[in-house]
Amino acid sequence: YNVPAPKNEPVLSYAPGSKERQLLKKALADARAVELDIPMYIGAEEVRSGKKKKLSPPHDHQHVLGYFHEGDKSHVEQAVQAALNARELWVNLGWEHRAAIFLKAADLLAGPYRYKINAATMLGQSKNAFQAEIDSACELIDFLRFNVHFMSQIYHDQPESSPGVWNRIEYRALEGFTFALTPFNFTAIAGNLPTSMAMMGNTVVWKPANTQIYAANVIMQVLKEAGLPDGVINLIYVSGPDAGDVIFSHREFAGLHFTGSTGVFQGMWKTIGQNIQQYRSYPRIVGETGGKDFVMVHKSANAKEVSTALSRGAFEYQGQKCSAASRAYIPSNLWDDVKKYMLEDLKSFKMGGTEDFGNFINAVIDEKAFNSITGYIEKARQNPMNEIIAGGKYDKSKGYFIEPTVIVSKDPSSVTMCEEIFGPVLTIYVYHSENFEQTLELVDSTSPYALTGSIFAKDRYAIELAAKKLTNAAGNFYINDKPTGAVVGQQPFGGARGSGTNDKAGAKVNLLRWVSLRTVKETF
Ligand code: GLU
Repeated sequence: YNVPAPKNEPVLSYAPGSKERQLLKKALADARAVELDIPMYIGAEEVRSGKKKKLSPPHDHQHVLGYFHEGDKSHVEQAVQAALNARELWVNLGWEHRAAIFLKAADLLAGPYRYKINAATMLGQSKNAFQAEIDSACELIDFLRFNVHFMSQIYHDQPESSPGVWNRIEYRALEGFTFALTPFNFTAIAGNLPTSMAMMGNTVVWKPANTQIYAANVIMQVLKEAGLPDGVINLIYVSGPDAGDVIFSHREFAGLHFTGSTGVFQGMWKTIGQNIQQYRSYPRIVGETGGKDFVMVHKSANAKEVSTALSRGAFEYQGQKCSAASRAYIPSNLWDDVKKYMLEDLKSFKMGGTEDFGNFINAVIDEKAFNSITGYIEKARQNPMNEIIAGGKYDKSKGYFIEPTVIVSKDPSSVTMCEEIFGPVLTIYVYHSENFEQTLELVDSTSPYALTGSIFAKDRYAIELAAKKLTNAAGNFYINDKPTGAVVGQQPFGGARGSGTNDKAGAKVNLLRWVSLRTVKETF
């Protein structure tokens, strides 16, 4: 069978008065009206540990969305066992049947579940309607459909044969069980990490960030309705150490698919390294970890385009994207104009809860994030080399709100210029317009990360120079565009250096990590 390349799922606009806005408002009201009791899903069971933890919208502490049941090591052991038990049937199921389940899940998300999952992402993770639509609807649907297409391409990719010899490659699932660990910031990533492994025949233990459980629960409902057999993906809510202790010491541990912080990833890699002799096979390790993404501007660029890229690239979803623009290098000839346009944009951004569709800026995810981000703002304020030209205020009384904050720093190696903040904070360094080449060196050497980055210029020689000098500074490189918003099937996403293993999400190269090839030579 062949699964042809799909089209990207069209993005709905939710314009005032539109039918889709009405449906989304209803889904939000329905979700608000009930307090959910969210179980773990292990094998065929809905597991309720009785240890209930509250979920509230990050922008509204007063409201209770529901409770999830927190598990412990015994639940991790059960989930591993359920994954191992489900493996034999799953691995022997024809791949077209696996494909059909995930294609059906995509159709359910595009149709009856679209508003429900967007409402869950808006309430649980504080995304506005547009940010939810491009994430939990379009990107997740695209991941499922494109991955099925890539899977069919992989299975069709066969070696040459010769007279009297037929060579074949079998794309076997990994031997054992796999582990998906997903971050709060994208519902699409939460859906993609476990399903891409399951698609290739693996069974999975899935642990989402606690701040994502509200939407993860909807993903699980969709997968079940699409016919995913019990035990193929097991969803548990446990602490990192509880999960790590059980999973990374298990002989059958075969693969890790992770998106999250650099520190956590490096810690897990070390543990896996220490335990390497215990495993049946060398586990596959895939991780996307962080960024300090740049916008580099040449004196020939258009100031208006640059300012739009900054205000959207840095502040959409409160800067909580690994890809967010967080350091910018602006030539002195353009600075006055860029600053003027950007401050106008920021003035027009309203901040508040996600149910009011006029709010562009919503809350950051939780108290830990709020404290860390505001700590960076205060540190920046104390540095005499810095000037805060926009925002800088914050308030957590109703929700975790932080104003979009712009720091201009005379020191290109100041803290907020180098470290990942993961919040609505942009630091700008204004360089002398003639020092383009030296500034490129600075862009390349300032941060340990290499996820995304942009060059803005009209001058083609400048674009070429930047592309060459910054060859290894970004896995996703944008010319005259903001560094966020990669589209599945169009811009495979991921970076190297401190940003991860660069096994691009939503790409054939990623799916190939979840199979182990057997070469068969038959002689006639
Ligand atoms: N793929 C997203 C983008 O291009 C970012 C994903 C992430 O934050 O991990 O904006």
